[in-house]
Amino acid sequence: MRLPNYVSGRWGEGLGSGELLVDPVTGDELVSISSEGMDLEAALQFARAHGGPALRQLTYTQRADLLAKIAEALAANRDEYFRLSLVNLGATPADASFDVDGAIYTMKYYAKIGRALAEGKMLKEGALVALSKSNTFVGQHFLMPTKGVAVFINAFNFPAWGFCEKAAPALLSGVPIVVKPASPTAWLTHRMVEDIVKAGILPPGAISIICGSARELLGHVREEDIVCFTGSADTAARIRSHANVLRRSVRVNIEADSLNCAILGPDVASGTDLFDLLVKEVVREMTLKAGQKCTTIRRVLVPRELLKAFGEAVTASLSSMKVGNPRNSEVKVGPVVNKAQQSSCLEGLAKLKEESEVLFGGDKNFQPLDADRHKSAFVQPALLSSKNGLAAKYVHDLEVFGPVATLVAYDTREELIAITRRGLGSLVASVFSNDANFTRDTVLGIGDLHGRVLVVDSNVGQEHTGHGNVVPSCLHGGPGRAGGGEELAGLRALLLYHRRFVVQGPAAGITQLSEWCVDAASLC
Ligand code: NAP
Repeated sequence: MRLPNYVSGRWGEGLGSGELLVDPVTGDELVSISSEGMDLEAALQFARAHGGPALRQLTYTQRADLLAKIAEALAANRDEYFRLSLVNLGATPADASFDVDGAIYTMKYYAKIGRALAEGKMLKEGALVALSKSNTFVGQHFLMPTKGVAVFINAFNFPAWGFCEKAAPALLSGVPIVVKPASPTAWLTHRMVEDIVKAGILPPGAISIICGSARELLGHVREEDIVCFTGSADTAARIRSHANVLRRSVRVNIEADSLNCAILGPDVASGTDLFDLLVKEVVREMTLKAGQKCTTIRRVLVPRELLKAFGEAVTASLSSMKVGNPRNSEVKVGPVVNKAQQSSCLEGLAKLKEESEVLFGGDKNFQPLDADRHKSAFVQPALLSSKNGLAAKYVHDLEVFGPVATLVAYDTREELIAITRRGLGSLVASVFSNDANFTRDTVLGIGDLHGRVLVVDSNVGQEHTGHGNVVPSCLHGGPGRAGGGEELAGLRALLLYHRRFVVQGPAAGITQLSEWCVDAASLC
C-alpha cells in the first residue's frame, strides 16, 4: 500500500518505487511513501493563498475551538495510533502512550489556554510610545500572525507528539501547516492528518502532509514562512544553511540533539530516597522508547565516591527488565526504529566503549525475547562508566540515540559545572540534591546553556514531571548543540508564528487599531 500525500487540498500518491516502512521487530514491510512528482511549490502557495486567509478570518478563540475538535478526532482514534506505534516503531504501550497521549494532551492544552485569550486577531505589545510633545503622534508595537505557511520537518521518534506540539500553536496563531514527517515512521503522522482531514475541521489549505523526501521544499519557502525542524544536529546545519533560507531570511526554529545530563548531588548518600529516585529516573530514561528521546539522560554525573554504588543500582534494575517483542506483555523495552538506527547505535556504542568501562549490556549479539535478532532492530540497554571524565573524546559529543547512558565521576563543583557545560548546549539537565546551596550554585553555573533544569529534592519526591518529559506549559528547546530553538512554554509558543512590527502614527488611529488586539502580555 502507498500512503498518499495531502497537498493543495487533495490526496495524491507520489511516483516511483518510494521508500518502504518496516516493522522493527519482524522486519516485515508495511507501507510505502513517496513525494516524487508532488508539486511542492504549488502546495506551499495553496496553503498561503487558501489556508492562511481562512484561518485568519477567525479569532484566537474560534481557532482554539478548532483545536478542541482536532483533539476530539484524535482521541477517537487513539487505539489505531497505538497499533501503528506498535507495528511501525515497535512501541510498548508505555512508549506509545508517551507519544500519542502526549500529542492529544498537548492539543487539548492549547485548545484550553487559547479559549482563555480575549477576542482579537492580532497581538498588541506594551504601552503606547510617546513620539511627539503633544502625544498626538505615537508608536505602538504589534505582533501579527504571519501570512506565510509553517513547514514542519520532523524527527522519527515522535511522529504524534512532534506533529501536535508544533501544529497546535501554529493553527492557534492562524498559520497553515505543511508537515513532512520523518520517513521511517511517517505512517502515524499520516493517519492523524487523515483523521483531521476526514473530520472536516479545518478549511482547505490549513493542513497538508508530504511523506517521503523533502526534495526541493526548502527552495520554495519565502520570507513570510517559518521552518520548524526537529532532528539531528547534522541535518539542522543543512537546513539552516540552505541557500534560499539564507537569502530570504526565512525564520527557522531548530530542535536538535543533545547530550543531556542528570546530576547526583554530593550530599546524597547511597540507598537514600533521592539516590533511588535518580536511579529510577536513569533507568526510565534509558528504556522508555528504547532511549530514543531527544531529552533522554545521556550522561549521569555522580560524585566519585558514589560511582560504584550508583552503577550497581542501575545495573540491578536494568537486568530485571525484559527486552524484546512488545507483543509479549512481559517486555518493558522495545527495539530502536530500524536496522539503520541499530547500526548507528552500535557504531556509537563501540566508540563510547573505547574510553569507558561497560557496567551493563551493550552486547551486539544480544538475543531479544520473542524476536529474530537478525531481522529485528534491538539494542541491548548499555550502562557505561567514563574513564576520562571531562577529557573524554566521545561521551560529551556523540549522541547514541538508543538505550545507552554513561556515568561520569566528578570531584568538585567546578569540575561538575565544566562537565555539564561540555555538552555545548542541552535541552535539559536534572539536579537531584537536598542541598539548596549546591542546587543554586549548579543552576547558576549551567542555566545559560540549558533549555530546562529539573530540580528534585526529597520534598518533591515522586511528584516531579520527569527529566525527559516535555510539558506544554514549560519551555522546550535548548541553546547551542540543541539547536537554539524554543517551543511550547504555553502561549509564548505563539510568538514564533507572529511578526513584530511597530506602527508610528496618530494616537486616535492607533487606539482604534488596538481595539481588535489581544494584549501580548497575556501570553506570558
Ligand atoms: P534526521 O535524520 O536529522 O531527520 C529529521 C528530518 O529531517 C526528517 O524528516 C528527514 O527526512 C529530514 N531531512 C533530512 N535531510 C533533509 C534535508 N536535506 N532537507 C530537508 N529535510 C531533511 O533526524 P531523525 O533521525 O529523524 O531524528 C533523530 C534525531 O532527532 C536525534 O538526533 C534526536 O536527538 C533529534 N530530536 C530532537 C528533538 C528536540 O526536540 N530537540 C526531538 C526529537 C528528536 P527523511 O526522514 O525523509 O530523511
